[in-house]
Amino acid sequence: MLSVLSCIAYEHDPFYLALAVLVLTNGGYFTLRLYARVRRSVGTVKLLWVVMAGLIGGGTIWTTHFLSMLAYESDLIHGYSLGLTVLSLVVVIAGVCLGFLISDITDKPLSIEAGGAIVGLSASTMHYIGLAAMEVSGRVIVEPNYVIASVLLGGFFSALMLNRISKQCSRFCGHVAVVLFVLCVTSVHFVSMTGTAIVPSGSGAETIAFDSKGVLAIAVLLVMALLFLSVFMAYMIDAKTEEATDGRIHRIFEHDALTGLLNRSGMNSAVATVLQRATSSPSAAAVISFSLDRFLDIRDAHGQKATDSMLRHVAKLVSGCLGENESLGRVGDCEFLVLASDVYNNREVNALCARIEAVLGTSFRWGGGVLPVRAAFGYAFFPSNAREAGELIDKAEQAMKHACRSGPGTVAPFKESLGKTAKERGALSIDLSHAEERGELELYYQIQNNVNTREVTGAEVLLRWKHDKLGMVPPYKFIPIAEETGLINAFGPWILHTACKEAASWDMPLKIAVNVSSVQLSKDGFADIVARVFRSSGLDPARLELEITESGLLDDRNHAMQVIQDLKSLGVGIAMDDFGTGYSSLATLQMFPFDKIKIDREFVKDLGKNKHSAAIIRSTIILAESLDIPVLAEGVETEEQLQFLASEGCGEAQGYLFGRPMPVEELRKITNARPMRPALSLVG
Ligand code: C2E
Ligand code: CA
Ligand code: CA
Repeated sequence: MLSVLSCIAYEHDPFYLALAVLVLTNGGYFTLRLYARVRRSVGTVKLLWVVMAGLIGGGTIWTTHFLSMLAYESDLIHGYSLGLTVLSLVVVIAGVCLGFLISDITDKPLSIEAGGAIVGLSASTMHYIGLAAMEVSGRVIVEPNYVIASVLLGGFFSALMLNRISKQCSRFCGHVAVVLFVLCVTSVHFVSMTGTAIVPSGSGAETIAFDSKGVLAIAVLLVMALLFLSVFMAYMIDAKTEEATDGRIHRIFEHDALTGLLNRSGMNSAVATVLQRATSSPSAAAVISFSLDRFLDIRDAHGQKATDSMLRHVAKLVSGCLGENESLGRVGDCEFLVLASDVYNNREVNALCARIEAVLGTSFRWGGGVLPVRAAFGYAFFPSNAREAGELIDKAEQAMKHACRSGPGTVAPFKESLGKTAKERGALSIDLSHAEERGELELYYQIQNNVNTREVTGAEVLLRWKHDKLGMVPPYKFIPIAEETGLINAFGPWILHTACKEAASWDMPLKIAVNVSSVQLSKDGFADIVARVFRSSGLDPARLELEITESGLLDDRNHAMQVIQDLKSLGVGIAMDDFGTGYSSLATLQMFPFDKIKIDREFVKDLGKNKHSAAIIRSTIILAESLDIPVLAEGVETEEQLQFLASEGCGEAQGYLFGRPMPVEELRKITNARPMRPALSLVG
């Protein structure tokens, strides 16, 4: 070891040595990068990379050898035989190519290391041919032990080198492989040179004199530079091709496969680009988010093929109605985003939403029928609502979710208060999912009375949530969440069963009215749930009345009609809840076989203040009479309201005048007593 070190320190010129190290480390780095390509490619391309790697690898070993020989300080060296010098270059390039090829061509164990050993062997073969090419004034003596050691060390380090670069277990393995390459070449050279001596013979006349070290160094470096340049260019061409492929892959990742529109990631980039441009110009931009109404219900009822076709239909229609500075993306199951880069105020955005809403209204035909395509819209502005793409999209989506709660066709701009509301809703939604198992849900009952006799005729069941920290959470806050999250489908059967069982236990055979959400109605098997409840509770089906709002019936009329017919064949009554608040209450009334109409409390509340309310109530009662459907008025709070309803011929009333929603114990006092006398005082 010491003799090797002293050989390096005392027998080599540091300048040429430094040059050799520079070439060796850089060459090693490039060789191994190219070798990594060999392992990643197949067929002819693999062979081309093998040749590239072999050229650079072999060239590096050869150049390093000759620079080291120039560094080797011996006055007895006169020059080099051209033939052997060229042969040494050819041998090392071929050897390295062969080693690389063998290491990669089979999956046999140790084939990588065997290939590596061949690389090392070709380095030492090259070295000894290089020594033989030396033309000296004397005799070159090489000690066999050093020859063996140099060959073994070279083979060992290069076997290890290919092992590390092929089976990388961390990002340092690549660097370790470069070090092993350096160790392979240096160990061959310095171990061999330690055991090499030139014994002067005094007759150097017949050698071809080669006195200028500088010329040889330049020639060697030139060969190396040419090799480097050609390989570097090939490498760059390949990198560019890869970049173009990456671009194509990137495009695939940024588009939605179904509609061909930009997906969330694509939309994010598009918004970011527009915002970047908008930062340096006075123009504003807006992102509109819209979500298709009842999408999941339609998928449940008609299958994925129907919704896929519907999404393509929407993509086509909406894209067709957008202008030059407007682009469309699909960012969720049924959620789309529109980026409008040239809008300045709410009026323009509202107009754009109206345009989209109008084209969505174009009928979508499926399976011989027409499926409804409606949406709710939310939007946010740059820069007033958000300055960054993700935030702008997020705010538009918050506004859209808010709009969804008010039903399809709603357009909502983003407001700061929405962020807070969204957070609150998120927290409530999590708590609500545990409410049933924690026993926080309770049913309250509100009595319904005959307007003329004031006798109790039935009771409406109203769900209550007693939150452990927030106390009583009002239904308008949690029922929409339960509907959105689908939790209502879990609560529904429990409500029905509890209410029916309770009603079956009363002395008085009063009616029991249960609210049914549109989400429950659209889910398959609702009538079966109700049938099971009758069996488990023992209630006479004629005593149950299901309250359904117009919105629960409109979206998929055929399905709704089927469910209603199934329910009616069980003997259940169907009441139309909140009459007058929907957009086509009259048409709905005509279409479905209702057993009761419940006039919404909004109209009753305004009696005496707003003459339209009185007119609406009056005409509803006349219409109901002609259709032979009984009417119940909700929200009756005063005697005057009751008198008006009585004079118009309304049959039943429900409201604080008779009683507020009450817990079951309180209700039992009524249902289990003798028929009730007129309730003149407010209850609850
Ligand atoms: P709704 O079906 O219209 O229920 C009647 C609502 O009017 C009840 O509100 C009731 O407390 C209130 N109310 C009754 N009489 C008066 C009155 O004289 N004056 C005033 N100002 N209000 C009166 P509540 O209990 O807050 O329920 C609100 C809504 O929540 C219900 O409206 C219904 O849509 C929904 N909901 C309640 N329970 C259930 C349920 O079990 N299932 C479903 N799906 N929805 C429910
Ligand atoms: Ca109701
Ligand atoms: Ca109602």
